[in-house]
Amino acid sequence: MKFIRHLSIKYKLTLLVLMISMVSIVIGFSIIIINDIIRLREDLVNKTQLDASVVGEYCVGPLEFDDKDGLKDLLGKLRSIPTIENAWVYIENGEHYGTYDRVSTTLVPPPPPGDDDLHEFRGDYLHVARPISHDDKKLGTIYFRASTSQLRERTNIRIFWLVILMAGSILLSYVLALRFQRIISKPILELAEVTGKISHDVDYSIRVQREDKDEIGTLYNGFNNMLEKIQLWEKKRDEAEAEQRRLLMELESKNKELEQVVYVTSHDLRSPLVNIQGFGQELSYSIKEVDSLLAGLDADTKGIKDEISVIIREDVLESLKFIESSTTKMDGLLSGLLRLSRVGRMTTGFENVDMNNLMKEVSNAFEFHFKEAGASLEVQPLPACYGSELEINQVFSNLVGNAIKYRDPGRTLLVKISEKKSDDSGSVVYCVEDNGVGIPEEYQSKIFQIFHRLKPDDSEGEGLGLAIAHKIVHRHKGTVKVESKPGKGSKFFITLPRAS
Ligand code: ADP
Repeated sequence: MKFIRHLSIKYKLTLLVLMISMVSIVIGFSIIIINDIIRLREDLVNKTQLDASVVGEYCVGPLEFDDKDGLKDLLGKLRSIPTIENAWVYIENGEHYGTYDRVSTTLVPPPPPGDDDLHEFRGDYLHVARPISHDDKKLGTIYFRASTSQLRERTNIRIFWLVILMAGSILLSYVLALRFQRIISKPILELAEVTGKISHDVDYSIRVQREDKDEIGTLYNGFNNMLEKIQLWEKKRDEAEAEQRRLLMELESKNKELEQVVYVTSHDLRSPLVNIQGFGQELSYSIKEVDSLLAGLDADTKGIKDEISVIIREDVLESLKFIESSTTKMDGLLSGLLRLSRVGRMTTGFENVDMNNLMKEVSNAFEFHFKEAGASLEVQPLPACYGSELEINQVFSNLVGNAIKYRDPGRTLLVKISEKKSDDSGSVVYCVEDNGVGIPEEYQSKIFQIFHRLKPDDSEGEGLGLAIAHKIVHRHKGTVKVESKPGKGSKFFITLPRAS
């Protein structure tokens, strides 16, 4: 039955109609055949009984006058009835009196039937008995043995024609089913064809046409409505996508512009800054010279000398010290900006990166720092990723460097680098974990911002390491996240594209 499920709807319908008509035709014709057989048998019984009664009446004379020859002649006339094979006449006391055999035979006359009104089919013969009586006085019994071969012949002929008729009816229902199934299957097949065309061409402007008011008409209308909605939705989506693309391009160009501005300003601002630093130093040498010249002047100018000396030491030299420290700070900030804007400018191309090798390089670079801090680094086997080896090295170096910088002096630092299971098969997640001082929750989102430092006076730094790491990972279409508990340690999760 499973194969029916894979048949086309038109064959399913034809098969269904054919099966139903076949069952009805077979049941109908079987009833007709059984009915016919019963009727033919009844006809034979009635006719044989009638013949027995008529012949029985003719037997009255010979029986009353004990005329055996007359009876023999009379029974001989049965030859004209082809179905009667044998006939026997018995007198009242059951004694056999006369016989008729169509074919000369040595058949011993059977005992008289117990029932005078017998009619019974036994094997290929019908046995019929009738009483012989005159003026309400029973004289004997006549007993016929009739052949059923004619009955069988007629039955066979009927069955033959009925089977022919049945085959004809089945053929006719097949032709009709094949023709009329189209009323249902054609629109469904048309709809299926249109659906295939739509999904192949991705063209939602196609519509199906049907005027019918039945369920198939409703299905067609529903299908058209659905297509209309999809088309509308597609139009909106295309518009939104075009707008998104436009905004992205605008954002990209603005970003490039901004990076250019940052690069140019940080680069160009450094030369006037160097001038300020240089001239400031020049100024401080000159002031020191003025101060020593003042020391060589006459004693009678002592009052003025002391005053100028105070101005030089407390005002001018102090101010020059502030100018120097500010320009140094500004230089640091500018070079930080320059470093950040250089991310991606001097990069190598993207390739598959063997992270186990990369981690060996990172661990070698920090070997001295770990020894010095009495700390240890544990690197677990890592899967490869896809990106710029140089930049990824910088990300992990910044994170490991921070773990050393922000270690807790109260316990031995342990840094662990491992892989974290990712839901997305296209990316890998690495985890850099330390047991350092940790980061309070309210600062966790800020540490990736440029120049953001939690305790600027506690350690050296520019607040750039994580901003650079964030920019690099973002360039790789990855993410970097932090989980941290103050006093316990931090975990940095870096998601990068998996090696192809
Ligand atoms: P920098 O180290 O130069 O200050 P970063 O951008 O690398 O700049 O870090 C920003 C801030 O994030 C740091 O000042 C520090 O307070 C905090 N931080 C970074 N990494 C860690 C860490 N592993 N443990 C604790 N604090 C950290």
